[in-house]
Amino acid sequence: MPFARTILGDVEPSSLGVVNAHDHLIRTGAGEVYLEPEHLLADVDKAVEEATSFVEASRRWAEGGTVVDMCPANCGRDAEKLAEVNRRVPGLQVIAATGFHRQRVYLETRSHWVSRYSVERIAELLVADIREGIDRHDYSGPIVERTEHKAGVIKVATSYGVITPFERKCMEAAALAAIETGCPINTHTTYGTCGLEQAQELIKLGVEPSQIAIGHIQRNADVYYLSQILETGVYLEIDGTYRIKYQPDSNRIMELRELGARGYGQRILLGTDSGKSSYQKAYGSVTGVDYNPAVDGPRMLAEGFERSYVDDLLINNGQRFFTFRREA
Ligand SMILES: [Zn+2]
Repeated sequence: MPFARTILGDVEPSSLGVVNAHDHLIRTGAGEVYLEPEHLLADVDKAVEEATSFVEASRRWAEGGTVVDMCPANCGRDAEKLAEVNRRVPGLQVIAATGFHRQRVYLETRSHWVSRYSVERIAELLVADIREGIDRHDYSGPIVERTEHKAGVIKVATSYGVITPFERKCMEAAALAAIETGCPINTHTTYGTCGLEQAQELIKLGVEPSQIAIGHIQRNADVYYLSQILETGVYLEIDGTYRIKYQPDSNRIMELRELGARGYGQRILLGTDSGKSSYQKAYGSVTGVDYNPAVDGPRMLAEGFERSYVDDLLINNGQRFFTFRREA
């Protein structure tokens, strides 16, 4: 039976409702927080408040919604806090991640366990997060204690205009784990660079194109380039909502219109990537995790998008993408 793997168990993909394909509800510390303290999202009550507004907005479109929390290994993941958020918000489902962020987030990496272990041993750790349960200590120390909460997506990430040897090793391990478990891979690109190379590399490593989504790609608002990536058969994940310091929202809407018109509309996922407290309503911002169903959906209809296309973007594409490719 087809299934998606949420933090509270495996579910029928059609039960996911509106799918926010890249977001952040909990981050309890680690490198990103060291680099920028606004990345700290450790407060369960705030996460509950933020997720509740997402579910409320999702109910205009479906029975509820799913947040894919893209915090990967050794980056401040807390599976138990995330599961608590899930339990406290009716209508919410949460998919948790394993895998890796870009090198910079791990600060100095010469002694990091990714640099010390073989690709095969690293892949075993990712597979165990998916099959057995995420480590209570987020693979941040020598003791591993598995929670009952399994990962349902693998993160892969690259730097600005370069894939470092560290990142390439992470990518190889992620590919092995994806092939073994059928778990989807959702990536981080930095400012939308290296998206095509990520797709090509992961496919070369044997991952099915339909199992790969190239993320944050909206920052590279170049429809020709985005079409080239889509031609490899992968999905694109578009987020960065209300990130006006980088580009107006009209760029994302333009990308969605143009890519839909070119026939790629069934391979586009939406997220918000509200990964800082200043991007969340619960912490006082005007924008938040609810942006896709609350603002983007109504806007696309107002701008003349077909309702069926808006449903694909908010609901159907995400439900298909986060379905495992085999019995995990
Ligand atoms: Zn993110």
